[in-house]
Amino acid sequence: MNGEKTYEMLWDCSFCGARKLLGLTHRHCPNCGAPQDPAKRYFPPEEEKIAVQDHQYVGQDVLCPACQTANGRLAKHCGHCGSPLEGGKAAALQQEQVIPDHVHSPSPAQAPKAKTGAKVGIGCAIGGIFGLIVLAIIGFFVLNSILKKDAGFKVVGHTWTHAVEIETYEYKKESSPCSKMPTSAERVTRQKQEPVCETRKIDQGDGTYKEKRECKDQEDICTYQVGRWVPKRSEKNTGSSVTDPMPWPTVTLSRPGECEGCEREGKKTATYTLRLQDASSGKEKTCSFSDPEKWKSFQVGSSWKAKVGGISGGIDCDSLTPGP
Ligand SMILES: [Zn+2]
Ligand SMILES: [Zn+2]
Repeated sequence: MNGEKTYEMLWDCSFCGARKLLGLTHRHCPNCGAPQDPAKRYFPPEEEKIAVQDHQYVGQDVLCPACQTANGRLAKHCGHCGSPLEGGKAAALQQEQVIPDHVHSPSPAQAPKAKTGAKVGIGCAIGGIFGLIVLAIIGFFVLNSILKKDAGFKVVGHTWTHAVEIETYEYKKESSPCSKMPTSAERVTRQKQEPVCETRKIDQGDGTYKEKRECKDQEDICTYQVGRWVPKRSEKNTGSSVTDPMPWPTVTLSRPGECEGCEREGKKTATYTLRLQDASSGKEKTCSFSDPEKWKSFQVGSSWKAKVGGISGGIDCDSLTPGP
């Protein structure tokens, strides 16, 4: 499936407007005689490719230092003006094209033009809307922080939560490249994958281009059963006193061990929340802390100052300072 073939590049004559002239065969325009401009070369469409048989590639064309005409690499003097070609620059190359194979859909080149246009249109519309949303969100945050103001708060209470997640061991069907399969996988089935191919068009700079087809073998895909710990439920204790003990919930596992349906303790989360009342509006706000000592240190009835967002009214808990 891998292979190489050489084709003619095409060029358009900028003097008489003749189109689709051959890069290798037509060194001069067959219509008006103007020399070929290598910068105007392009890859032909798929259905107009012309293969070059037994092409001897000797290198990129050389531009004549005197008249800029492109000459074959082996020429010593310019075919157009006769000047020596020594020191002439190499002809410019067109950018390489890579065309991946599409297994289930036609290649973009073969797809109808209108369809592509419509897709682009929808893409632009989605992009535009997305951009506007992003701008609106950024604008909101900027304004919110610019318009930040001080507000007074009074501590009205505390709440705490100690939660323990309980995970269940479950068998799940998964698939991945076989080399990435977990070692504990069971009941494995392997599936062969088709190789992925692409065609590369490489400008050779002498009026021809090389088409290289390259295929890469794909790794087999394995489908298997694998045991995973999955969070299923959680137990929690809550309270509102800062002086009473704050025990973690007692967790009863239905079946300990590592078996299908077995349970184990998962993530533990402690949340310490302060309830604050906005002195002017009377609205309640909350601040959460990870350090219980800090949380306890806020006395019920004490007064605090904090920054609040100009639009959202959200409290910046890091900015709490004592004071009326
Ligand atoms: Zn011409
Ligand atoms: Zn010349």
